Amino acid sequence: MTTSQTISHWINNDVFTGSSGQSAPVTNPATGQVTGQVALASVEDAQTVINAAAAAFPAWRDTSITKRVQTLFAFRELLNARRGELAAIITAEHGKVLSDAMGEVARGIEVVEFACGIPHLLKGGYAENASTNVDVYNIRQALGPVAIIAPFNFPAMVPMWFFPIAIAAGNTVVVKPSEKDPSSSLWMAELWKEAGLPDGVFNVLQGDKTAVDELLTNPAIKAVSFVGSTPIAQYVYRTATASGKRVQALGGAKNHAVILPDADLDLAADSMVNAGFGSAGERCMAISACVAVGPIADDLVAKIVERAAAIKTGDGAKGSDMGPLITKVHRDKVASYIDAGEAEGAKVVLDGRNVTVEGAENGFWLGPTLLDNVTPEMSVYTDEIFGPVLSVVRVETYDEALELINNNPYGNGTAIFTNDGGAARRFQNEVEVGMVGINVPIPVPMAFFSFGGWKASLFGDTHAYGPEGVQFFTRAKAVTQRWADPSHGGINLGFPENN
Ligand code: NAD
Repeated sequence: MTTSQTISHWINNDVFTGSSGQSAPVTNPATGQVTGQVALASVEDAQTVINAAAAAFPAWRDTSITKRVQTLFAFRELLNARRGELAAIITAEHGKVLSDAMGEVARGIEVVEFACGIPHLLKGGYAENASTNVDVYNIRQALGPVAIIAPFNFPAMVPMWFFPIAIAAGNTVVVKPSEKDPSSSLWMAELWKEAGLPDGVFNVLQGDKTAVDELLTNPAIKAVSFVGSTPIAQYVYRTATASGKRVQALGGAKNHAVILPDADLDLAADSMVNAGFGSAGERCMAISACVAVGPIADDLVAKIVERAAAIKTGDGAKGSDMGPLITKVHRDKVASYIDAGEAEGAKVVLDGRNVTVEGAENGFWLGPTLLDNVTPEMSVYTDEIFGPVLSVVRVETYDEALELINNNPYGNGTAIFTNDGGAARRFQNEVEVGMVGINVPIPVPMAFFSFGGWKASLFGDTHAYGPEGVQFFTRAKAVTQRWADPSHGGINLGFPENN
């Protein structure tokens, strides 16, 4: 890629450059070099993209389920064969290491595979003779054009949480990628074209708040799936529901892992390193607070440090363990949280602030950082940091650990490490968090379940993908029918009773 590369919108199976004349630089975080310019849509550009999705809807809705699913299978085959290309794009714009980017694509493919089973999921129920000579059945119908607004941290997987199911169900789609890593969605658009998806079914709208606001208020858009930070999720939920749309807005997180004294400490330490520093902590399911219960804290901290110190930070395309942060500004903000934690009394056991990478001095580097003796008032604990900073909070009892988690405004993911089945079962029952791991640090549900947090981590009633995704992207219709029935009862102004 060159600095002159333009990353445009996509409509009707073709590039659409738009007319705003506005763009923003896209940077490779491992080198600090600008690799492209992403178009920033004007309101008119956004309307052009939305209109394309609206125009394509009736024909796609009326395309048979069988034909829709054949296109989905073709998309799955292409994606599976070429997953490495997409992973390389993710690494080049996001910075996560290639193996992690491959994992992201794999989890996205799982949703495509789930959506290939949509015929079974769209089948309604049928009751013959629900009343005498009257049958009742229900069907699920597509909504119309739907918007998918994605964050920077999963530029391929998060759109794939939604669009396979939306498209399989007969909707048309406008994806609004993050302006920080916009190329993955365009690559997937080309793949859809190759798979034979008709014009206008899958569209990409590049841009910032202007593009988002048009999606939230334009009457043609019937539903919005948003993933991003909590303040923007709240704004999206408020604005789009006020415009009469169906909305699921997934927000930020502060995920805790509880390590009970009877846990396998090696498993727990491995898990804390993987979940704390994978993707440089830029995952909504990253563990950022490790709650050490009772006397194991010293041993646990020692085991985490030993492992984390061996992590090689560097260019994700060059065999490193952990890549850079997304921007210089974000890197500095994360570093400032470490400064604040230290100033407030946390012990910096492992310090990533001065990590450098030879030959890539302009990358946005911050090494794995472990803070011990973190307390709930510290900003490093209260805020979502979204970087490779793991805080150890020491408590004496399970009840204290549970109280910490349940008092937290977020409720995305959590985990408990223990060998006590009773304690684990109690935790699963008592914890106020949407996704729970038992000896599993990043409990992202499989595609045939659904993904969603509680409290400030999700606004709306429906979780992403899985059965709830099918529910979100369809609406129910119940039909009551009677044919050639001589016993219909003649004139009767009373409310119909079943008999
Ligand atoms: P973000 O909220 O800054 O941006 C998300 C999207 O909203 C982007 O497409 C962006 O262009 C748009 N946007 C940003 N500011 C806007 C504004 N003022 N008005 C309208 N639209 C706006 O989030 P991010 O930094 O890209 O992603 C990181 C955040 O996403 C973290 O908080 C993380 O926890 C969260 N996240 C949550 C989940 C989840 O499943 N709950 C998954 C991934 C990421």
